[in-house]
Amino acid sequence: MRGKRIRVRPRPGKPADVKSVAEIVRELKGEGAPSSDYREQSLKIHGLICAKCGREFENKDRHLLTVHHKDGNHRNNPPDGSNWENLCIYCHDDEHSRGLLGEYLKGKGRGPTQD
Ligand SMILES: [Zn+2]
Ligand SMILES: [Zn+2]
Repeated sequence: MRGKRIRVRPRPGKPADVKSVAEIVRELKGEGAPSSDYREQSLKIHGLICAKCGREFENKDRHLLTVHHKDGNHRNNPPDGSNWENLCIYCHDDEHSRGLLGEYLKGKGRGPTQD
């Protein structure tokens, strides 16, 4: 069995499978993930319905709804939801391909649309 040793190399920095206390606390407080946070907020405020095509979604399909920022500014997240629009992934795509924010998308590529 010589020479068949598998070396598990720990990542430099911190162990991958151990969460630091600070991280756990952050999670409990709901911090550290603002991007998914406003999504939940928006879905709660506006409901599981696409603002554009009016398609309604069930809870299990909620991942098909994305949160669009009306002014295109991700940092503008008023708690009343006035800058958010729930759009299905199709309408969201459509919205961004209209040129208004096309330039913006060009630079960033198309990831999961949470903008
Ligand atoms: Zn739609
Ligand atoms: Zn958008």
